[in-house]
Amino acid sequence: MNVRTIGAMVGFALMTAAASFAQIPDEAAINKALAAAHAKYKGLQEGKNADYIPALAKVDSNVFGLALVTVDGKVHTLGDIKTEVSIQSISKVFTMAKVMEESGTDAIRDNMGVDATGQVFNSIVAVEQYKGAEMNPLVNPGAIASTSMVKGANYDEIWNKIIGYYNDFAGRDLTVLQDVYESEAATNQRNQAIAHLMYAYGHIKEEPVRATDIYTKQCSVGVNAKDLAVMAATLANGGKNPVTGKQVLKSEYVPEVLAVMATAGLYDDSGKWLYRTGLPAKSGVGGGIIAVSPGKFGIAVVSPPLDAAGNSVRAQNAIADVSNALGGNPYAVTPK
Ligand code: GLN
Repeated sequence: MNVRTIGAMVGFALMTAAASFAQIPDEAAINKALAAAHAKYKGLQEGKNADYIPALAKVDSNVFGLALVTVDGKVHTLGDIKTEVSIQSISKVFTMAKVMEESGTDAIRDNMGVDATGQVFNSIVAVEQYKGAEMNPLVNPGAIASTSMVKGANYDEIWNKIIGYYNDFAGRDLTVLQDVYESEAATNQRNQAIAHLMYAYGHIKEEPVRATDIYTKQCSVGVNAKDLAVMAATLANGGKNPVTGKQVLKSEYVPEVLAVMATAGLYDDSGKWLYRTGLPAKSGVGGGIIAVSPGKFGIAVVSPPLDAAGNSVRAQNAIADVSNALGGNPYAVTPK
């Protein structure tokens, strides 16, 4: 191979890399957008911490952390990014991804469906309506069923697989917030009922009590805004963690993960959210929201006060502003 051939190959490789990263917003624009959103919403006092899990009511409502991670691995943060909140329902995305990785995407569609229920995330009416089918993995019945589908010989094996998978997405070792876990485990009778119904209808094959407990534990994993943004950026980057370089989820499964997030990620307000931002996203009652701009960035905001639908008020506003300022909406195309 002569020098010219090598030169041409290097040139081509650089052009390809530049082309694939061409859409990533530049650092100055990202920092400006984060600063503007932080300043605008820091004082916003709407919403209220979740209190049906007693430990969540005690979390400082003023916590406000923002993080954006680009698909080339640059991390931008602002505000309270050290404070950990419980991941709550955001965990459902990553357990669903684990099931896809182990059993394929059809397993999710065929067992609990991928449609919005049009009901609250812990609706029992929704389970009854279609006998546990026509759900999705981002509401509690489908999420507990997802947890029950993770393969393992016993509790510890299943749990270690789940937390290990979250660690790969976050790029660090996460831990359970024990007070949140104990608080929810003592008050999760409704989720136990949901799991038993899903068991009765055959969507949970065994051990509904164990599945509910592991689900409760996965919801209690502590994360800060940066962790969540790296997890989101891994989805934005075709399943490869852009900070650690590890391929966590097969690229071919990412579109299905994002489709379920777009359909049902913000509970009953998923349509409003998609209309506003175009971004697949997931919220949790701990106050976190992640959103994914495919091929560009993952963004996360943590702020505990929630609106009536159960979504963080400051996080929704901040993510929408930042993404819209950076051209994050995947449906917005400039005509050629
Ligand atoms: N652990 C919570 C529950 O099961 C998660 C709910 C949520 O974040 N929407 O109720």
